[in-house]
Amino acid sequence: MNKKISRFGILFVVSAPSGAGKTTLCTALRQTPDFVYSVSCTTRTPRAGEIDGKDYWFISEDKFAQRISAGDFLEHAQVHEHFYGTLRAPVVENLRAGIDVLVDIDTQGAAAIRNCGDEFIARALSDVFIMPPDLEELRRRLMKRGTETAVQIETRLQTAAREMQLWCDYRYTIISKSVEEDLLKFRQIMGAERILSRRLILH
Ligand code: 5GP
Repeated sequence: MNKKISRFGILFVVSAPSGAGKTTLCTALRQTPDFVYSVSCTTRTPRAGEIDGKDYWFISEDKFAQRISAGDFLEHAQVHEHFYGTLRAPVVENLRAGIDVLVDIDTQGAAAIRNCGDEFIARALSDVFIMPPDLEELRRRLMKRGTETAVQIETRLQTAAREMQLWCDYRYTIISKSVEEDLLKFRQIMGAERILSRRLILH
């Protein structure tokens, strides 16, 4: 008898200090989309090349506050000087439809999802931390990126040092090397999570 397999979607949460290569990794992952990327809301202004609705939903602080009151966010946090939030409805709809969702959020957001008390979300969750090789390398990457001022770079490095201590709260940790190596490791995690016995429903 041929068995059929179905499962709910997996909520892949990926966190990394800024400059650790997470955006590059997520962009590479999105080239072969076998999951849906969760587009966050943010109050920060778009960087050159960023597209509303693709990279983020760029909204005002008033609108952000309204969405908090309406309970629209699965989690939200202030990161550096801006607000960011993950929209609950698209995440839950996709997971229920058996579609995996990739969420790129900071360590506060990952902790909020881990502790959200929702059994369905807790079962769907698989969280991954991308660890930068060291702070000096992170500084070099941030300076090369050139999107932050010197003061902003120092703030981000301080945040990074704090965040790097939280790696052990995550199910997986990838020590960032090249984009190719990080991508391969992430794909291996996705592959393993997709055949985890406890996620499968055999018909
Ligand atoms: P950036 O402004 O460089 O795009 O992102 C800054 C930080 O905010 C990154 O660590 C990113 O992962 C995080 N971030 C992006 N979207 C969300 C979100 O919806 N929730 C939370 N908590 N963090 C987010």
